[in-house]
Amino acid sequence: MPRFRAILDTMPAYKAGKAVVSADGRSHKLSSNESPYDPLPSVLEAVASAATRMHRYPDPAATELTEALAERYDVPAEHVALGAGSVTVAQQLFETVGEPGAEVIYAWRSFEAYPLLADLSGVTSVRVPLLDETHHLDAMADAITPNTRMIFVCNPNNPTGTVVRSAELTAFLDRVPENVLVVLDEAYREYVRDADVVDGLSVYRERPNVAVLRTFSKAYGLAGLRVGYLIGAEPVAAAVRKTMVPFAVNHLAQAAAVASLAAEDELLERVDAVVKERDRVRETLIAQGWTVPVTEANFVWIRLGERTLDFAGACAAEGVAVRPFAGEGARVSIGDPEANDTFLAAAAAFRNA
Ligand code: PMP
Repeated sequence: MPRFRAILDTMPAYKAGKAVVSADGRSHKLSSNESPYDPLPSVLEAVASAATRMHRYPDPAATELTEALAERYDVPAEHVALGAGSVTVAQQLFETVGEPGAEVIYAWRSFEAYPLLADLSGVTSVRVPLLDETHHLDAMADAITPNTRMIFVCNPNNPTGTVVRSAELTAFLDRVPENVLVVLDEAYREYVRDADVVDGLSVYRERPNVAVLRTFSKAYGLAGLRVGYLIGAEPVAAAVRKTMVPFAVNHLAQAAAVASLAAEDELLERVDAVVKERDRVRETLIAQGWTVPVTEANFVWIRLGERTLDFAGACAAEGVAVRPFAGEGARVSIGDPEANDTFLAAAAAFRNA
């Protein structure tokens, strides 16, 4: 029997959202915060064209995409680091600090990958419970020790959709030593409409120990191609690039991301439509009697406690896959209006049962 690292025995596997089908064949996947839209024709064309070069390795530096991002956000190209999805960039970040004794702080509950990546990289997770479904930044600052190497702030937070506002973020960052990296995970940034939520990029411009994590998976609709990026000061981006597996971002993904940046106006109109649906879904749920925190992402969070799995089961019977967190609540992505209506009907029926 080969011997594996002991940590693998205790690490739960990452649970990805799965589609479900109702008895009469309906299926709406609202469990992975994906874009409900089909790919844009211009992006499909770019991918088809890139596919003609699939017998060659991709550009390891993803030069065109890196430059397109640098131009889009008005940052030096040296401040951009790419990965195969932002979860891979997060993994690379853990690799940059991962040595025994190092501590990484994050809120809990938050993105499920953080504890897995922490365990894999050998760092110690310091989980700080949410307060009212929101990052408890004072407690997170209190948790800093001389061993703290990195802090994740997921803004908006997955799975609650809640945000950290500008003043509280500034007060928090003022308490973080300069040798601790703060990663603002902004996977859902494009869905934020609250003007009081600072754009992480303006924070990074002021503070070299703050880096921003973004993805093409959500607003840009490229979840299946796996491309995400970090924008951070040169030493941070350079460290992340060093931990990248060679050729991690394939050239279909690179081409699709470049084409998506070129088609950004069209994609952001879709985001506006999702935001409208999000607000409609939340208001309808509240009218049904559920408690749903204000969400700035492309999903809603319903705290259900012991009823969580029953709720998810009732949705599944209607062909709606949601993401349950047993004993806590369910995260439900915003889909197209038909999917949302099907979900809302299932939620109402569960409420009245
Ligand atoms: N960060 C957060 C907060 C997320 O919710 C997700 C996806 N669920 C990711 C990062 C990773 O997304 P991707 O790897 O597709 O870029």
